Amino acid sequence: MSGYERVHQELKARRGNAVGRRCVAPGCTRLADGWGLVGDEGTLRFSEDGHGKRVRWSDDLADYKPLCMTHNNQLDHGGDWLLCPRGHSRAAFGVAADGMCRRCKSERSREDRERGGDQYRARNRERMRARRAAMSADELERLRARQRENNRSYRARKRAAASSTKTLHADSAQ
Ligand SMILES: [Zn+2]
Ligand SMILES: [Zn+2]
Repeated sequence: MSGYERVHQELKARRGNAVGRRCVAPGCTRLADGWGLVGDEGTLRFSEDGHGKRVRWSDDLADYKPLCMTHNNQLDHGGDWLLCPRGHSRAAFGVAADGMCRRCKSERSREDRERGGDQYRARNRERMRARRAAMSADELERLRARQRENNRSYRARKRAAASSTKTLHADSAQ
C-alpha cells in the first residue's frame, strides 16, 4: 500500500468521515465532501495514486481538514486561500466550480484565441504564397496593381478620417 493510501485509511479510522462537516476555507458556507490537504508546502509529499495521477499528501493527519469540492479542487490547482498560482486575488476574481481561478480561465482562453489568430494569419500567408507561385507574370502584375490601388484608397480614407477629426476638434475649440 502506498503512503497516500495508508494515510487516507488512517484518516477514516481515526477521524471518521469528513462528509457533511463545515468546509474550513475562510468564508465558505458549503459542506465538506471529504478530507482535503491544507498543510503548508514544507510537510507536503508527492506521489502517484493507483491510477497514475499525481497526488499531494502528508504524513501528518493534522494537515487534513474538511473541504467542500470547490475548495478541494482549488487547492489541487495550487496557490492559497488569498491568491491563485498566478497571483490573482481570490476575493476579487473568485474560483470556478472546477477549482480554477476565474481570472486565469479568461486569460487562458484569450491566450488560446491569440494563438489561434497567429495560426490563422500564418495559414493565410502560406495560401497567398502558394497562389502567387502558381500565377503567370501577367496575373502577378494585375494582383500587384490591385494591391497598390487598395493601399492608396486605404491611405486616402485614413487621411480623410484624420482631417475630419481635426475639423471636429477645431469646431469644439471655438
Ligand atoms: Zn469550501
Ligand atoms: Zn488566477
